[in-house]
Amino acid sequence: MTIPFFAPDLFESDRQVLLDLVHEIGTAPAQKFLLGEHTARFEDALRTSLGAADVVACSSGTSALTLVLHAMGVGPGDEVVVPAYGCAPLANSVVGLGATPVFADIDPWTMVADPDRVEQAITARTRAIMPAHMFSVMAGMPRMREIARQHGVRLVEDSAVAQGGVLDGRPAGTWGEAGVFSFVQVKTFGTAGEGGAVITMDPELGQAVRSLRNHGQGERFVYRRTGYNSRFDEVLAAFQLHRLPGFPALLERRARIADYYTERFAPLREQGVLAPPAGRNGRCYYVYSLLADDRDALQRYLAARGIESHVYYPQPLPHQAAFARFAPAGRSWPHAASAARRQLAIPVHPCLTDAQVEHIAAAVRAYAGARENTKERSR
Ligand SMILES: *Cc1c(COP(=O)(O)O)cnc(C)c1O
Repeated sequence: MTIPFFAPDLFESDRQVLLDLVHEIGTAPAQKFLLGEHTARFEDALRTSLGAADVVACSSGTSALTLVLHAMGVGPGDEVVVPAYGCAPLANSVVGLGATPVFADIDPWTMVADPDRVEQAITARTRAIMPAHMFSVMAGMPRMREIARQHGVRLVEDSAVAQGGVLDGRPAGTWGEAGVFSFVQVKTFGTAGEGGAVITMDPELGQAVRSLRNHGQGERFVYRRTGYNSRFDEVLAAFQLHRLPGFPALLERRARIADYYTERFAPLREQGVLAPPAGRNGRCYYVYSLLADDRDALQRYLAARGIESHVYYPQPLPHQAAFARFAPAGRSWPHAASAARRQLAIPVHPCLTDAQVEHIAAAVRAYAGARENTKERSR
């Protein structure tokens, strides 16, 4: 009996709803499967709940980043400052537009971009900074806003993992000039397929993104700009709209599991296992990440006790072959490199039972204790 890292029955409770929606939309007289009334209603529900000027649903979180950067005019010759540790879309979205990603090192504990490093990376060519919320912790957005304002650069908030997170009373996605969500299966509001959204406080930016997601179309078959195919699926829009009221309870379950872990793991700090910071402000609980001095040993220990865990990002982005040409010789990202060696994510999905959560916490504590004893003996 293994405890899976991801929820094993994501859509079981909504199965009939999903099947009914496929039938209903598939047989409706309108025969509209993309960007129809369901998408419009889903966008509206998100916009209202966030207090945003506009929300534009699109085909993925990655695509959402591309649409925002394109709408901001990012292109060849421009630089965009992104975290050195994170997922590929952070750099790919920039490279895809012909611009240059400039990597900023991270905070060694929270693993989000360090605002001082972001500021140091700004040059005359910088068009935007793009901090990302990571795992359980939101980036330091108040400082990022300040930096963007002082240096006259655009602020894109990669909030793909942080839907429902709140920092200082302000929802994730609304801190930047534009933020993004991802509805890919693994995210906290993941769905049965691909999807994403752009959230913006700027109605003009929203209009530009709206047009770009559908080939740059304004009125039907009139194109003032070149764009993309980044449309949103009507069945998924209706499905997400149905699931939206239940989302806060799922997040709360994740938060409680995370609170319990963090409390249980607090004493392990001296034993080489570091939990994320406690508290609920600026948290998102997409993934619960430990930092362990001997990460691979911890992973083996957990696997032997039937607990699946994941290593996210075994290399910093500038160390990846794909982005090596954007890693200037002599630059290093020591905190990103350290996170890549030490990070280990344990299950935090809302389907976990209390008994499973307790088993996981006990196993991590037992590992840290056993490790401490071995060290004592060898002293
Ligand atoms: C998942 C993710 C994305 C991309 O979202 P997709 O929907 O998978 O394209 C972008 N940024 C971050 C930080 C993510 O975790």
